[in-house]
Amino acid sequence: MADKEFPLCSTCSKRQSAKATFAIVQPRRCFICRGLMLRVPAVERRVLHLVRGYQFQTFSVGMVIPADIQEREDQLRSDLQIRGMETIKSQAAKEVSDFIRRKMHRRVDRRHPELTILVDLGEGRASTTAKSLFAHARYTKPKGVSQRREFCKECSGRGCSICKDGYADTPSVEEAVGGRLCRILGSPKARFTWIGSEDADSVVYPPGRPFVAEMKDPKRREIPGRFNVATGKGRTVITGARILKDKPDETHSFTFRTRALVEPRGSLDGVKLSDAKRIIGATIQHRNNKGKIVYKRVYSISVRKRRRDLEADIKLDGGLPVKRLVSGESVSPSLSEVLGVPLLCRSFDILEVRESSGTHPGVIRRR
Ligand SMILES: [Zn+2]
Ligand SMILES: [Zn+2]
Repeated sequence: MADKEFPLCSTCSKRQSAKATFAIVQPRRCFICRGLMLRVPAVERRVLHLVRGYQFQTFSVGMVIPADIQEREDQLRSDLQIRGMETIKSQAAKEVSDFIRRKMHRRVDRRHPELTILVDLGEGRASTTAKSLFAHARYTKPKGVSQRREFCKECSGRGCSICKDGYADTPSVEEAVGGRLCRILGSPKARFTWIGSEDADSVVYPPGRPFVAEMKDPKRREIPGRFNVATGKGRTVITGARILKDKPDETHSFTFRTRALVEPRGSLDGVKLSDAKRIIGATIQHRNNKGKIVYKRVYSISVRKRRRDLEADIKLDGGLPVKRLVSGESVSPSLSEVLGVPLLCRSFDILEVRESSGTHPGVIRRR
């Protein structure tokens, strides 16, 4: 018994119950979709064109259907008291999914897809977003290159006629390496998590300082293990680069070795440089920028004379600022304190950074 109230196209009738039969009509006269399903092939071609620009193994399709169409399907089912098999939305999504699977030989993964495809069938529009990649690597850098991009001094980051984007024109690892990673991975944006930092005039020696870069919407998903990047002031060398399996934990604890150039601000007469060792193993209090007291340690130290200045090799916990450890500003005990003479750290270089076990990015947080 055909129900005259609800003429349906053949596609829409198949989604309803076997108990109800419908007058089959041309799609444009279909009570539910008014020919919407005719737009599927064109949108499939659009999606295929988009996804061909990406390297991916898994994907999922999200579908937006005009609200009035979904309402008419709901109304028909409640009037006829049938449950139906699937909704027009899930059917359309499945058709697009099947098409991409056949054409590209890729798997559907609804929970953690590498590529998310969003289709607005009513508008005939499609867009794609690739899941962020997390790249872990190390950088070395010469003197004169800052780690992060620095704000423009004229506008302090608001953006002005000199800088345009709020950033100063000075070389940085963030800009040089971020730009290169974006080009390698076809990504519009890199977001860095630094594992410690140093000054712009610090040299970072091999094996370099580790960092994690989140690469947004990447077109490709592989990086070379090693590459050099020109900064405009010497080059930075990236080594050990690899893609992490998942988003790493945000907290990174580490220790590092530094060589500090120290200027005595008083007489060294009677100062025993070997007294520096008294700081080893002590619980060192540091009031950080947020006003919170944190407890850190120094693991080894050796201080020697270098002309009028001192040179100190120190191995210490990450998060303990080298210049303040030397001078004693917001840090106690400090090198100044144990040597009994006011000291100023003029500069420091990074000799080695070691990530602590347990927070190593190889240990991946489960979501
Ligand atoms: Zn229909
Ligand atoms: Zn500016």
